[in-house]
Amino acid sequence: MPLFLIIVVTEEYLTEKINGPLKNKEKLIALRKAFKTTRDRQNENKILFPNIEERKERLKKAREFSIGNKELLSQAIKNFEKNGFKVFYAKTKDEAVDYILKEIGEEQLVVKSKSNVTKEICLHEKLEEKGIEVIETDLGDYIIQLSTEKPAHPTGPACHLSRHDIARIFSKAFDENLEPDPLTLTKFGREKIRNYIEKAKVGITGANAICAEEGAAIIINNEGNINLVQMREKKHIIVTSIDKLYPNIEEAINMLKLCTYYATGASITSYIEIIAGISKTADIEKMLFKGMQGPGEVILVIVDNGRSDAFEKGYKNLFYCIGCGNCLLDCPVYYVVGNEYGYKGYLGGRGTSASYFLEGQDTSLENGLYFCTTCNTCEISCPLDIGNSEYSERLREDVTSVDKNFPTHKKILENIKKTKNPFGETSKKDLKKGNQVVYFRGCMALYREKEINDSTIKLLEKAEISYALIDEVCCGSVALRTGNKKIARELAKENLDKIKETGANTVIFSCAGCLRTFLKDYPNFEESELKFLHSSQYFLELIKEGKLKIKGGDKIKLTFHDPCHMGRHLKIYDEPREVINFIPNIELVEMNRSKEDSRCCGAGGGVKSLFGELAKAMANERVKDALEVEAQTIVSTCPFCKRNLKDVSEIDVFDLSELILKYSG
Ligand code: SF4
Ligand code: SF4
Repeated sequence: MPLFLIIVVTEEYLTEKINGPLKNKEKLIALRKAFKTTRDRQNENKILFPNIEERKERLKKAREFSIGNKELLSQAIKNFEKNGFKVFYAKTKDEAVDYILKEIGEEQLVVKSKSNVTKEICLHEKLEEKGIEVIETDLGDYIIQLSTEKPAHPTGPACHLSRHDIARIFSKAFDENLEPDPLTLTKFGREKIRNYIEKAKVGITGANAICAEEGAAIIINNEGNINLVQMREKKHIIVTSIDKLYPNIEEAINMLKLCTYYATGASITSYIEIIAGISKTADIEKMLFKGMQGPGEVILVIVDNGRSDAFEKGYKNLFYCIGCGNCLLDCPVYYVVGNEYGYKGYLGGRGTSASYFLEGQDTSLENGLYFCTTCNTCEISCPLDIGNSEYSERLREDVTSVDKNFPTHKKILENIKKTKNPFGETSKKDLKKGNQVVYFRGCMALYREKEINDSTIKLLEKAEISYALIDEVCCGSVALRTGNKKIARELAKENLDKIKETGANTVIFSCAGCLRTFLKDYPNFEESELKFLHSSQYFLELIKEGKLKIKGGDKIKLTFHDPCHMGRHLKIYDEPREVINFIPNIELVEMNRSKEDSRCCGAGGGVKSLFGELAKAMANERVKDALEVEAQTIVSTCPFCKRNLKDVSEIDVFDLSELILKYSG
């Protein structure tokens, strides 16, 4: 009887899980190198896709139309059957595995090509349990199969392994002493794989697309292994899922071009296999013979495994994914923990969120549901605009509703309930009446980064603004990002009532997170006729109106870090830079990743409170970005970013309000 390891997913378990890559960065070197190569190749080949935006729009429309379209799926099944395929719709992964086992029958060897769906349904393990030898025929997958490693990219599963690692893996598996030479290793792998392919009578592949109109499956690859696997004498079993559905071949080809470009930087793969029927002939007296040169049978297994449920619950977009892996290249979490973030072949934030439906809540927690900083860099990278921040927050809400959120976050929520701030602070706040603006200080500036509060107040006084300080409560951002909308809604109402009492119609914020919460998450705020601005936007107005005077000062070279809440989430990029440019003697230098492409500091989404070392590792990378452009100071407009960057930075980190105060007349 197989032994099952029951994992209890605690904060400690997850901390331990990511400690490996956080402490030993060796493994990330090859991964980052591979990602850089992909990015460079994408940039080189951009010229081949002058109409890339049109292509993306077209793909979005095709996905919108196809995903969850039951009629289209029925049409596809009908057309595949008409073309001679045997089709099986598997509601669950067990149904899929049982069916495939029956189809394999007495065969003892199966060759297989890359397929995330087969990983999802644990096909490999289940076949081996029955004594069937399964050989992966994609070189990267074969290396992973021979090792204890997890894949690191959907199309380059072994991209995190160096030539030395691979030489060790092959040498150990075959009792050889192989040199770490990439070509020698590749040829060695090829010979081993070929031997197996020649012997096997059943081949299993995935499918990148199933096309309803034609009843055709499409599979792309560079190695040529798919063609060999699909041509096994007895059977070709295609294992795919309902989200691989396209209306027709044209739409699928558009997807494949984009997928190839984003996955590898190339414009096309070496092979595009279109399978729209079975190998047959009736050349002799019209007598039909199946399996002339190809397999005698082609079987299509279409797996649901929780996807329909996800579509119904409003997570359809999550399954628009085409598996290009582009989101991994820029994800700040993936950059520092690699494939510890993700589920089997579904890697990173999107994969972790999808695993909630494919495998369940505990699996998603184990794969890093709470690692996501909600920075939304993935939305910018993704050709289908899939941003994981929204999904993380919604799924965390479910976790909280069954009281399974982690103790640290529970404590924060308890603090918010008791003291109306996440730190449990009970000290009295300074209050002030004023009718021009309300300065909403936010919990960080009130209790932790007090210099930001002090400098903002001093600037308002210098500009002779009649400002109000209210008995504010937490804006609700922390509750929202960690999964408690209900508390956030109550806090929002309390804050809005207190703001309205002042009679001021403008509210300014030091914290990018508070501003985003007020603008995006407060219900019906538009009706309140209030204007919400970040303090940097307000100070820019005051500088332009001459109410705040700026004088010269020390000459410094500084860089601006865009907080995710203010940048990607609110698209405010220019005003803080305009303020900095008003200051004489300051040279503003942009980091290689800035504005929309800015690298997250790592503090958001409750990550800093839950996984401090993970947050610091991300901050370290951001500080490296600043050092790379020889900045002497980092300036930001969010107290969370300031704190997290300051925790690891060897150069000064300031809030913009502090900088303005320093240089104000
Ligand atoms: S929101 Fe940010 S941290 Fe979360 S998965 Fe996307 S890129 Fe990664
Ligand atoms: S979420 Fe988007 S970027 Fe990431 S793998 Fe899927 S399609 Fe590609």
